[in-house]
Amino acid sequence: MRVVQAYKYALDPNSTATAALFGHCGAARFAYNHMLARVKAVLGQRAAEISYGLTGDELTPLSNWSAYGLRKDWNQRKNTVAVDRDTGMPWWSAYSKEAYASATADLAAALKNWSASRSGQRAGKPMGFPRFKRRKGDAVGSVRFTTGTIRLEGRTRVVLPVIGPVKTHESTRKLARRVEAGTARIMAATIKRERGRWWVVFTCEVDRCDPPPRQPGTAVGVDLGVKTLAVTSDSGVHPNPKHLNTRLARLRRESRRVSRRQGPDRRAGFTGSARWHRANRSRNRVHHRAADARRDGLHKLTSHLVGTYGAIGVEDLNVAGMLGNRRLARAIADCGFSTLTHQLEYKTGWRGSVFAVADRWYPSSKTCSGCKAVKTKLPLRVRVFDCDVCGLVSDRDLNAARNLADQVYVLFPEWPGEVKRGRGGDVGPAVWAVAGESSTRRPPLAVQGPPGANARITENH
Ligand SMILES: [Zn+2]
Repeated sequence: MRVVQAYKYALDPNSTATAALFGHCGAARFAYNHMLARVKAVLGQRAAEISYGLTGDELTPLSNWSAYGLRKDWNQRKNTVAVDRDTGMPWWSAYSKEAYASATADLAAALKNWSASRSGQRAGKPMGFPRFKRRKGDAVGSVRFTTGTIRLEGRTRVVLPVIGPVKTHESTRKLARRVEAGTARIMAATIKRERGRWWVVFTCEVDRCDPPPRQPGTAVGVDLGVKTLAVTSDSGVHPNPKHLNTRLARLRRESRRVSRRQGPDRRAGFTGSARWHRANRSRNRVHHRAADARRDGLHKLTSHLVGTYGAIGVEDLNVAGMLGNRRLARAIADCGFSTLTHQLEYKTGWRGSVFAVADRWYPSSKTCSGCKAVKTKLPLRVRVFDCDVCGLVSDRDLNAARNLADQVYVLFPEWPGEVKRGRGGDVGPAVWAVAGESSTRRPPLAVQGPPGANARITENH
């Protein structure tokens, strides 16, 4: 299966390469800001003309806002604007043309998003007019190379146009082997600075051949939550590691230290003391560490699920909406639901598995996984699902996960596999789950342990 994949490597550049990397990002920023100023000038001129009563052809014509148009305009202007103020020598030629091409392409995309959003052709949050880019600490921007010499040299170096060879922090073996075997082709390389480091991201076309899942005929439902990150329909329980939450105390301490030191002050033209920068870097590392741990855990969980089951059912969570809740936003963002769902989606695609997303309004928690009767109310604090119709008693999340597993059949009726039902999730024998059972046979509402006392917690790749 041919897919487009990214390979990201931390770089370990020497001083020459570092200067070239900063230079390219700076050149891109300059081109972006210069062309944005041009666009703004034209728009401002037209607004003024309209206020004088000019119309149609009398107005200053709009410049071409496509990536091509902006790049062409830049190329005509670079010899007059991208020059050394003292010597008059053009400096633009010291950097790859890709720096300017990617900057103008970024600006074209930003302008397009803004105008599409304004005219209602773009879904989602309203997009503002593009703003000038400012180098703010580490945020120096990025440059995307699509042409020229982009290749891996051995296992520890990458070669980029104009910049030349740059040492990588880690081995590029995984990608290099694929390139040598002809199962991957590098299409583009993006350099960027993040987390106090330089990175290169290769966009590659990769020929993947992943083995089929270990249980190709088994469908699993995955119920996501804050209390327990994921409960699967076969009683698998994946606890929420709460990567940020467990670091909050440390973060508070580090932040207090930062605030006691002399930070940057734009009005005073002060860029911050060395002690402030040191403390700030240390504070940021806490965030980076949490993000790394979260990403690692999510990859392990999704790889495990996709490697095991032939079909996966999930619910369509309105994560953006949930993040609007100020009390819950941090806890929800700490889970990475969107990333998890996204990973399941593309990883099932790699294996040719079924990925079923239940309708956003499907009541997975309120529906009985035995008889499909729907409760009208089920407050969040009620952790045990207790069916009034058939008498099924089940852990709340497990019940939801089973409904989501059944959704595989609802959404993919032709799918041939079976839904896996684990043991140990229900209170009482399985007979209680049979539809039409009278309520007199309902077992006493026993104290419910965590879903599936014999649950496997698997986080292998
Ligand atoms: Zn029921």
